[in-house]
Amino acid sequence: MNEILDEIRDAYALWGIELIVATYGTYYRLRCGRCGSLLGCVGDRLLPAMAKAMLNTQFDLYAAGLMGCKFGYQAERARAMDPVRAEAAITNLS
Ligand SMILES: [Zn+2]
Repeated sequence: MNEILDEIRDAYALWGIELIVATYGTYYRLRCGRCGSLLGCVGDRLLPAMAKAMLNTQFDLYAAGLMGCKFGYQAERARAMDPVRAEAAITNLS
């Protein structure tokens, strides 16, 4: 199994996002694990530890609902992971 792919899958799993195989082999669609909305895509040309770091930089956007599904599942995950940071992001970005 592709290690970097496992790492990307695990990083997105924290956000309740699943990877599904897209048409092109090195790209994967991102799908909300709760409502099934398509949320974009990601390539597997990342370096070790990059997936988690990348999602960490997007924390505020997910927390404030600017990224993620319209039903707020990823915002909910952000609040579960770090309530203080999530609250600050909502205040700063809303
Ligand atoms: Zn959703």
